[in-house]
Amino acid sequence: MHLHPTESLCCFVVLVCLSCTLHDIEVTDAAAEDSTTSQATTGSNHQDNAETSEERPGLDSNPEDATLATNDGNDPGSGTASSLSDGVNDGWIGGSCHSDEDCRYQGGFCLTEVDGFPGGTCSLACESQCPSPAAPTHTSSGCIAIDKVSSREGSSCIASCDPSADESGCRPGYRCTRRLLFQYTSRSIDVCLPDDVAHDQEPLVAWVAEASGCLAHLATLDLPIESTEHTASNPACAIEYPVLFPAILNGFTFFNSAGQATPLKISCRMAVALMRMIDVMHDLGLDNLTHLGVYNCKVSADGKPSRHGMGNAIDVAKFHGTDGTTYTIYQYYFQNTDVGRMLRNIAEQLHQHKVFNQVLTPEYNEQHANHFHLDLTWPEYPNEWNKH
Ligand SMILES: [Zn+2]
Repeated sequence: MHLHPTESLCCFVVLVCLSCTLHDIEVTDAAAEDSTTSQATTGSNHQDNAETSEERPGLDSNPEDATLATNDGNDPGSGTASSLSDGVNDGWIGGSCHSDEDCRYQGGFCLTEVDGFPGGTCSLACESQCPSPAAPTHTSSGCIAIDKVSSREGSSCIASCDPSADESGCRPGYRCTRRLLFQYTSRSIDVCLPDDVAHDQEPLVAWVAEASGCLAHLATLDLPIESTEHTASNPACAIEYPVLFPAILNGFTFFNSAGQATPLKISCRMAVALMRMIDVMHDLGLDNLTHLGVYNCKVSADGKPSRHGMGNAIDVAKFHGTDGTTYTIYQYYFQNTDVGRMLRNIAEQLHQHKVFNQVLTPEYNEQHANHFHLDLTWPEYPNEWNKH
């Protein structure tokens, strides 16, 4: 087991419960996972008041910031800055074509007008990755399921939108639209698809904006995430569409501070965020994390629940790499070492990929010296963090 409970708890003890014994902390921490036994208290939890939405008046509500688009890891921003008119992607993925011969690279084929692609579009079969641009005039591309946008089946590389080159980001007849990357459950990319199929795409943000659509979305993913019941100790703590998120999903494990891999009771939207987080964790070579608490019914003096009290937050104390490295925030976050840099990069990536609306690190304040506070702040979702 990677985790030594006393190690993970020592910081917690020092920071949040100066007068408690270690045993007390273990009970408190376990109770924080239990919706029926945890109770709003003051001064006994690491969470600070800034985590209640109403207490961050400086945040603008900007729905655009809550889109679930992320960089796909294929660097779609690396495309050319030239015009997307004739010649761009010529002979390359996204270029116009009449037949496969027009797609002058190994394995290239043409999605023709018969397939529904105006002027034809060069493509390439893919499992997950698409090749990097081979010339400055090429845009990047992403691997998406093709069966819903053409008469073909399987997955195919489709050119990314390039808004730096053209207002629409796509050739005439095509529209920039967001699609899930093939084999991902939560990672998306903006690609150029024919106008008439692009509008069919339900924006990923829609089912987040409408919480009622979240459970239906989860159901389509065929993941072991179950809807559950939730009765809060304080009525203020309501979890919107509560689900049980498995401790191990897609090869990534969520441990609590006692080293136990137990399911997390969270909101449906938070489940979506954690699925997206897992993708980022894999990209960073991480295979598990240790959290200090997820659901915790804490209510401010004026009766407002914290985001933990809505099942919309997680406090992460450490991450673990597939190479065996442990990244403990309290010990290493500020260090000028590979481990310290990695921790800062993890926070940066969670922010960049808009996995959560808010990322608070030890840079934020002393209450966060031993963990990242990661939350959803719906509908106030500025996707911000504390880096200055
Ligand atoms: Zn927190």
